[in-house]
Amino acid sequence: MIPAAPLPLQPAPAPPRWQALWRDAVRDPRELLSLLGLDGRVPALSAAAAAQFPLRVPRGFVARMRHGDAADPLLRQVLPLDDEMRPVPGFSLDAVGDAAAKAGHGVIRKYRGRALLVTTGSCAIHCRYCFRRHFPYAEETAAAAGWREAIEAIRGDASIDEVILSGGDPWSLSTPKLAELTDALADVAHLRRVRIHTRLPVVLPERVDDELLSWLGRLPWPVTVVLHANHAREFDANVDAALRRLRDAGAMLLNQAVLLRGVNDSVDALAELSERGHRAGVLPYYLHQLDRVHGAAHFEVPDDRARALHAALAARLSGYLVPRLVREVAGDSGKRPL
Ligand SMILES: *Cc1c(COP(=O)(O)O)cnc(C)c1O
Ligand code: SF4
Repeated sequence: MIPAAPLPLQPAPAPPRWQALWRDAVRDPRELLSLLGLDGRVPALSAAAAAQFPLRVPRGFVARMRHGDAADPLLRQVLPLDDEMRPVPGFSLDAVGDAAAKAGHGVIRKYRGRALLVTTGSCAIHCRYCFRRHFPYAEETAAAAGWREAIEAIRGDASIDEVILSGGDPWSLSTPKLAELTDALADVAHLRRVRIHTRLPVVLPERVDDELLSWLGRLPWPVTVVLHANHAREFDANVDAALRRLRDAGAMLLNQAVLLRGVNDSVDALAELSERGHRAGVLPYYLHQLDRVHGAAHFEVPDDRARALHAALAARLSGYLVPRLVREVAGDSGKRPL
């Protein structure tokens, strides 16, 4: 018998590039300030806030911040400040009633026809105002239970025709993991639409790679991708290219933003956000009034001012460039218009 020649050593397949960029995110507040030429110039920086909800921001997003500007609207979204540690009456840990609406492992079922799947707790960026910064992710994600309970909860309710992949950020999952989930959903006969709530194409556009696009192109339902950008300067050429590829793969692109004091609480900033998004093929969907979550009070814009900004925006822009101004109220049957 002729001995088989030893197999040539197979190089391990290289992990996707976006995962390396993900891991390389800035996580030290002092490093972030130093990259922006702001060493020692932000006195309200809080180690306690960073310990509670760590800083995380991809370097490509940092590159879009203005050097030397401590009030930069992108920086403000990620920098842990003393303000977060002040308890403010009315701001709580479960501001949107998620704990009460859980219908299955990682499934949140609040509105008719729609099931929101908490696919993962991970995000490439940590937004200080995040409405789920206190959500008990570790126990509640659908992936943790191997999707089974989540899929069964959806299969068992024929009134659900739309599944929303949310999180965290669903695209922080590897593409094979996403395919596992959508393969399981594919034989739920009553599903008509899939929606993906993701900030990744904006904060880490490299995530939109060939593997993701080929997965997207194979999905058996119309797909809507709801992005999350709060300021026009979050878009750049890399983001534009990623969004074009998503559209080419057949996805409809919408954007939801959160109205944030010191970030986008002016008619100019909101108009520029809609116009810049439109240039990238994205229509505005919602402008959210902040969820009253502990640690985010310093971002709040009073309702009267929010309404005035929204009216001024409507007076200025084409109708389809005006997002709906809404608030999420626990127990409501949908987002509540202001
Ligand atoms: C916001 C949300 C939805 C989607 O609501 P739309 O108005 O259809 O965008 C669905 N489920 C939950 C739990 C939500 O919070
Ligand atoms: S990307 Fe979305 S879910 Fe993640 S921290 Fe930001 S707002 Fe929260």
